[in-house]
Amino acid sequence: MINILDLDLKELKKWMEDNGESKFRAKQIFDWIYKKEVFQFEKMTNISKQTIERLKEAFYIGIPEVLEVFTSNIDNTKKFLFKYEDGNIIESVVMRYSYGNSICVSTQVGCRMGCKFCASTIEGMVRNLTSGEIIAQILKAQSEIGERISNIVLMGSGEPLDNYENVLKFINLVNSEDTVNIGQRHITLSTCGIVPKIKELADENFQITLAISLHAPNDKIRRNTMPIANRYTIEEIMEACKYYFNKTKRRITFEYALIKGFNDKEENARELSFILKKINCHVNLIPINEIKENRYKKSEAHEINKFKSILTNEGIETTIRREMGSDINAACGQLRRKYMKQ
Ligand code: SAH
Repeated sequence: MINILDLDLKELKKWMEDNGESKFRAKQIFDWIYKKEVFQFEKMTNISKQTIERLKEAFYIGIPEVLEVFTSNIDNTKKFLFKYEDGNIIESVVMRYSYGNSICVSTQVGCRMGCKFCASTIEGMVRNLTSGEIIAQILKAQSEIGERISNIVLMGSGEPLDNYENVLKFINLVNSEDTVNIGQRHITLSTCGIVPKIKELADENFQITLAISLHAPNDKIRRNTMPIANRYTIEEIMEACKYYFNKTKRRITFEYALIKGFNDKEENARELSFILKKINCHVNLIPINEIKENRYKKSEAHEINKFKSILTNEGIETTIRREMGSDINAACGQLRRKYMKQ
């Protein structure tokens, strides 16, 4: 059985033709799923019974089941624990901003990058999610909140560039008028820095925002928490970022999670600004989410502000990430782990 969400409109049209159905039905089916949020073939009232039977023999509509929803009392952030057909569980988070709803989607079940501060990677990677399984997170979340989602960040569990083909197909799918029609400029892909894949992505000529999880001002500090730093140096990442910028003219975002006494000193900020001054970028400082599996602690507010002011004084645009949904364990991977333990 094929998950119909893994197909783009052209592929479904082809299937219809190959199977003796009229291909304009494909658009009608897409409208039911993506515009009307109808996730059962039987409810597609303008499709004949016979066609519906044939569709059901070949396809399923892979919408995950909602295991749990947590709503933040602070900022109305909603965290969904979704379960796919094969029993795998992932998390998606919907954040409400003044400019619209934003969703943080997962791209893999678990992750194999091994960053020490991150809960998603503790048990390794189970499997990649398909493009349809990623888009299904948006469809289900939209139908649950009863509102449109207009922004996507690929910052849930998983390393998007470690699931390159499916993530690429996902971006093309969501960007299409045939589906949820979310503009590329409303999509941010976050990576721990898989250099060759950053270059490949640049060559796609997308207009998406690239975010790099840097989290350290030099390789020595970076290697303490991020195994990928043994593979690629910061210098190589910067070179790939420049390549990305030159190709796309999109400003790069650098994420920097501040860990107390580890990467949050003034000298760290100075070293960071020295590297980043050479590149057109924006820095997002993230007070680290403390998880019980490790000993990393959040930097103090005054240290975070100091760090920010050093970067700002060097002319680097810097923001401190608002902590959304802190009362509902909204940080990566924490809920899934809690659930699996039970
Ligand atoms: N694998 C990708 C995307 C998923 S992680 C990446 O590494 O970018 C999304 C972001 O959350 C990354 O910047 C990641 O480093 C960060 N993150 C992971 N664990 C965190 C924690 N405990 N506190 C704060 N940020 C964390």
